[in-house]
Amino acid sequence: MPELPEVETVVRHLRGPLVGRRITGVRVLRETAVAESPAPLKTLLGRRLLRISRRGKFICMELERGLELAVHLRMTGWLGVVPSSETDPYERVRFILDDGAESLVFRDIRTFGRVWCGSHEALENATALGQLGPEPLVIGADAFAARLHERGGRLKSLLLNQEFLAGVGNIYADEALFAAKLHPLTPAARVSREQARRLIAGIRRVLAASIAAGGTSIRTFRGADGKPGLYRVKLRVYGREDQPCLRCGTKIKRIVVGQRGTWFCPHCQRRR
Ligand SMILES: [Zn+2]
Repeated sequence: MPELPEVETVVRHLRGPLVGRRITGVRVLRETAVAESPAPLKTLLGRRLLRISRRGKFICMELERGLELAVHLRMTGWLGVVPSSETDPYERVRFILDDGAESLVFRDIRTFGRVWCGSHEALENATALGQLGPEPLVIGADAFAARLHERGGRLKSLLLNQEFLAGVGNIYADEALFAAKLHPLTPAARVSREQARRLIAGIRRVLAASIAAGGTSIRTFRGADGKPGLYRVKLRVYGREDQPCLRCGTKIKRIVVGQRGTWFCPHCQRRR
């Protein structure tokens, strides 16, 4: 599933080709992709795209006269600007731009991805956007530490909880806990202020490194330019069961936390 760096990569690739363009046609090829939209997609017709940004794992586009378009890629979604002559068997929604030569297309093999349009308020109510926690690249270290202590639960589960922190998923949660030398099952309440600082710094570092590399290429992720991400070679703990820890040589262990595979070094990340 694309996480924050992959979605950020898509947003950065789309900004140039998309901002300032007008939606002149909409084609829905699979109704379920838009079934939860508060307003019909044809409401977008004739409006110009003003801004594109990321919130958690959502792609958010602002259009003229207070309308917004939100996309969640979920497992296999892909969003990009292509020549309108280009077709794809997995295309679910097409937004024709300007004179029709190019289109913004939403493709999705597994069909879990969703597209919504409506006012900002309507989108916050219809999607998880309204409940998202703070952005990990923005929240201050002290605010993050305070937030950890307010919550029960174990670190790995908390990091995956989008209401606690927006955009971190399974890969980057494991990488950040490894960077901060914290065991995934550590209770949040037992994390010291110093450890909390290390954790948010670790989260920022792994996210920033992945954004700089264009997202990870695990499974089916491709940037909006169609190029695979390059981060996989730099993953230090995720998916490395039984391989030596890159810091101390101990074999990496895999456990399951909340039904998600979780990798850590039993020596560097001691359980407290
Ligand atoms: Zn180690």
